[in-house]
Amino acid sequence: MRFSHLLIPTSKETPNEATLQSHIYLLRAGFIQSVGSGLYNYLPLGKMVLDNISRVVKEELDSAGAQEVSLGFVTPAALWIESGRFEKYGKELLRFKDRKDNDFVLGPTHEEMMVNLVKQSVKSYKQLPLNLYQINLKFRDEIRPRFGLMRGREFLMKDGYSFHANEEDMKREFHLMQETYSIIFERLGLDFRIVEADSGAIGGSGSKEFMVLAESGEDTIVVCQSCEYGANIEAAVCRYIALQNEKNDVFKKVHTPNATTIEEVCDFLHIDASACMKVVAKKALYDEHSEAVMFIVRGNDTLQEIKACNSINANELVDLSEEELEDVGLVAGYMGPLGAPEAIKIVVDKRLQDASDLVCGANESGYHYVGADAKMLENALFDDIVAVKEGDKCIHCGGELRYTKGIEVGHIFQLGTRYSDPLKAEFLDENGKSKPFVMGTYGIGVSRLIAAIIEQNHDDKGCIWTKESAPFDVTVIISNVKDEAQYEAGVSVYEQLKAKGLNVLLDDRKERFGFKMKDFELIGIPKAVVIGKKLEEGSVELIDRANLSSKTLSLDALIEEM
Ligand code: ATP
Ligand code: MG
Repeated sequence: MRFSHLLIPTSKETPNEATLQSHIYLLRAGFIQSVGSGLYNYLPLGKMVLDNISRVVKEELDSAGAQEVSLGFVTPAALWIESGRFEKYGKELLRFKDRKDNDFVLGPTHEEMMVNLVKQSVKSYKQLPLNLYQINLKFRDEIRPRFGLMRGREFLMKDGYSFHANEEDMKREFHLMQETYSIIFERLGLDFRIVEADSGAIGGSGSKEFMVLAESGEDTIVVCQSCEYGANIEAAVCRYIALQNEKNDVFKKVHTPNATTIEEVCDFLHIDASACMKVVAKKALYDEHSEAVMFIVRGNDTLQEIKACNSINANELVDLSEEELEDVGLVAGYMGPLGAPEAIKIVVDKRLQDASDLVCGANESGYHYVGADAKMLENALFDDIVAVKEGDKCIHCGGELRYTKGIEVGHIFQLGTRYSDPLKAEFLDENGKSKPFVMGTYGIGVSRLIAAIIEQNHDDKGCIWTKESAPFDVTVIISNVKDEAQYEAGVSVYEQLKAKGLNVLLDDRKERFGFKMKDFELIGIPKAVVIGKKLEEGSVELIDRANLSSKTLSLDALIEEM
């Protein structure tokens, strides 16, 4: 293709709304155009990259035996009401009515739709297993759409769903998808890590995420320095080390005026934060009701909200306002499990289970208890609700755990019968007995991958596309198009490289050479052939975008090399 014919509106200006390098470069290099918050148009270059990524995804899934379908984007609310998600999904779900007052949603994910599709056409175990996927639009009315394609509201996802006669077969497919996803991300040239992810009520290793390692990633992942263990902070676990406190106080109430924070209490009583019970009070939301819950962790630990939420099977945890705290009978700054109203649920981190000689709020303004221990909390639930810290020990090998940042580009999940049960999607087994499908679900953020590739592959000049994602394999830059010899040689090299099966961009614009080089660096095509002054000696320059190294070659040697 000729640059002069293509719509590639490059720009020098850094767009106001963009802070992340990938977002800035994708806008400046003319891959995408902003339409509104979290909404983007793909220009020709952007569409090429999108198609390249989709192609890799499709090739690998097809070869793993999955089948592509395409489901409606607009989905009837009835299915969502049946699954119980219409109310539960929250504000991310865009709900609307048609002219006849029927309720619809814009699909943020398609479990309901896919279960409905299979329910209508699969009746027997003989038709199983089945893995159906699509590469299609999704809409999530994200609270904070940002970073361009990284977190859009309308975005492209590959979503796949598999259907099985039993758990064992579903697990086989889950492993196959894990391998297939690894091949996809390797082909796309990404440095990634597979980590254990939060699987809500299901627990265990039923859910894994594929994280592209990048400083700008929104997810914190915990990785072991000595073994393969990696987990999203939301699901990470570590070895439990029992704590011995130094002081030996008898249980009593003490006056602690103006000591409302852990730091102030520690200063006042001359104790270490690890000897304090820190209370985080939250309102837990369930389907039909809500309740106040006190989560208790050591003073030097941090509550991990997803783990906390899972510990009580709530849908969500939200903050309690000062009024709400007062209403349930808790005293801000002096909250504690002893002397708290009985109605309040208490969840204590399991690291505190055997600890003694602890300090906690007395639930009375100006007072704390000392010498307390967790055994005094008869009705408390003990669970792992703390965020793993750097330096904690790996649960598998005892190695040191460290944090790193990742971009979630894929997620695979063992679903079981979570959707087939409520939607009554059943098949007949070998004995003619009706059973719900056992399911797995597998997602890839196709449009997010565009941003992730650039987050991992850029320099201070622009994008550096990986081999399989690049919009073109090589660009032929004619230094001065008014120079007939250069122009003819450029067109000839362009034709020859095309004939070799390469995807080539001919920069035949009537622009200065420096300007064209800047665009080459910004756009990030892996290689450039420069047809310039050296042509008089019969040679051209071959530039590698990744390190901007260049070498001079004769025309013949160039064609040979490529
Ligand atoms: P996140 O935690 O980043 O919000 P998620 O866990 O809600 O993502 P999934 O429901 O697992 O997302 O969706 C599958 C994949 O779709 C994700 O792994 C991610 O790559 C992609 N994705 C999710 N939300 C967005 C978004 N707002 N914009 C672009 N891609 C997204
Ligand atoms: Mg996810």
